[in-house]
Amino acid sequence: MTDAGKISEGSSYDVVVIGAGPVGENVADRARAAGLTTAVVESELVGGECSYWACMPSKALLRPVVARADARRVPGLSAAVQGPLDVGAVLAKRDEETSHWKDDGQVAWLESVGADVHRGTGRLTGPREVTVTAPDGTEHRLTGPREVTVTAPDGTEHRLTARHAVAVCTGTRAIVPALPGIAEARPWTSREATSAKEAPGRLVVVGGGVVGVEMATAWQALGSEVTLLIRGGGLLPKMEPFAGELVADALREAGATIRTGVSVTALHRPAPDGPVTVELDDGDRVEADEILFATGRAPRTDELGLETIGLEPGSWLTVDDSCLVEGTDWLYAVGDVNHRALLTHQGKYQARIAGAAIAARAAKAPVDTAPWGAHAATADHAAVPQVVFTDPEAASVGLTLAEAERAGHRVRAVDHDLAAVAGSGLYADGYRGRARMIVDLDREILLGVTFVGPGIGELLHSATVAVAGEVPIARLWHAVPAYPTISEVWLRLLESFRGQ
Ligand SMILES: Cc1cc2nc3c(=O)[nH]c(=O)nc-3n(C[C@H](O)[C@H](O)[C@H](O)COP(=O)(O)OP(=O)(O)OC[C@H]3O[C@@H](n4cnc5c(N)ncnc54)[C@H](O)[C@@H]3O)c2cc1C
Repeated sequence: MTDAGKISEGSSYDVVVIGAGPVGENVADRARAAGLTTAVVESELVGGECSYWACMPSKALLRPVVARADARRVPGLSAAVQGPLDVGAVLAKRDEETSHWKDDGQVAWLESVGADVHRGTGRLTGPREVTVTAPDGTEHRLTGPREVTVTAPDGTEHRLTARHAVAVCTGTRAIVPALPGIAEARPWTSREATSAKEAPGRLVVVGGGVVGVEMATAWQALGSEVTLLIRGGGLLPKMEPFAGELVADALREAGATIRTGVSVTALHRPAPDGPVTVELDDGDRVEADEILFATGRAPRTDELGLETIGLEPGSWLTVDDSCLVEGTDWLYAVGDVNHRALLTHQGKYQARIAGAAIAARAAKAPVDTAPWGAHAATADHAAVPQVVFTDPEAASVGLTLAEAERAGHRVRAVDHDLAAVAGSGLYADGYRGRARMIVDLDREILLGVTFVGPGIGELLHSATVAVAGEVPIARLWHAVPAYPTISEVWLRLLESFRGQ
């Protein structure tokens, strides 16, 4: 409460959702579709990180980069696309995709599904209660169902009570390491990297995960001289090793510098408008105009009032497969904040599952949390798809070979050169790529598939169906890929496995 005695009369809902990113929006949608009254609290922009500083702007920046690279490998077209990208047009398209960082459209959508949107910061103040403080002290007073009256800024807080469930969908923020000189260096996080108004002359990117390699790819192509600094030995360490190797080769060919096995120890930016000097643990220094830290994410749970219900502020929220927080029967944590799979599509999947579970429990209907049941986000464990939108694209679902072996499965990895199918030869001259499937030898099903190469992002869903569906290899043999598509790699992988 910011102003003693000014807590306004409470409003009751069946479900209160904190955080209106893609996940919170979908929990609200599912809850409303089940006939439950729903409030959604959002402290910044409805649409969340994904719409404004993550998926959408990053993919808008990368689409022309990848399209140009593809076109440059097509004889007859290549000569027409040798010039630089029109950076202004790329950034304008990025701005359009982020709706110029305005959320009217998404607020309208949430309202159209029947959810009440409350602007402000939500925090738990005890079981089944959420208090909202408007960002500028503005008071949000509900004067009737789905009606919000915004009154003068006086710090008043409004109390929302959830009859059945509170869903925490507050996502994550970028981690910036506490290095000497970090404040004066004003480093970029993913937010600045996706919303910058111009390409810096020299950009240092720290971190070789998905955000690091995607942003390095985008800004190198948009005119920056990129240096990628990686603590480990290679890029994309969570994927099969060949993914990082092929993406690193392409980044180097595009002009980027990649330095592995180095850590940043200090930063200096003595003049606010001057360059930043990056000190490394091998004694070297790199000078740049901007530095991006793509070094991981932390859950946005530090100011959520978790202590009022006996949980640790700032921690990831551990949930069961219906996304119910351990030790509670009313608190759900959905999307990035539960740390199961930090991806929009996977969070939205969890939202569909959690929304159905909330509705079933509210109706005292049967709840099916058995693996692959209606109320279990089983795919989080077995079949998480991800596309890295670099050139070449890298895409995977399920387990890598190392993960499958660590989990104790008896497996065989089957590899195929993607350049050796007719479709890839037509797709691009000098096509380079590779595919791998991980076969569970006991059950003869696929545990994981990885593709790396131009144009393979759209191929991934075939693998997701095979892995999530646990389709027997014997039946996959009857799934005939069209000729001459890159999908024919499926046939080659299966032939290799069958020893043909
Ligand atoms: C650069 C980058 C690129 C990415 N690209 C992709 C991609 O291509 N594909 C993909 O699937 N994933 C991608 N991701 C991951 C994706 O952005 C996240 O998985 C997704 O945004 C998670 O959704 P969410 O709703 O859980 O959280 P968020 O999108 O983070 O939304 C959380 C919302 O909660 C609000 N909030 C937080 N605390 C409070 C509070 N106390 N009260 C009220 N509101 C609060 C926030 O303001 C925010 O709007 C990318 C991430 C990054 C950083």
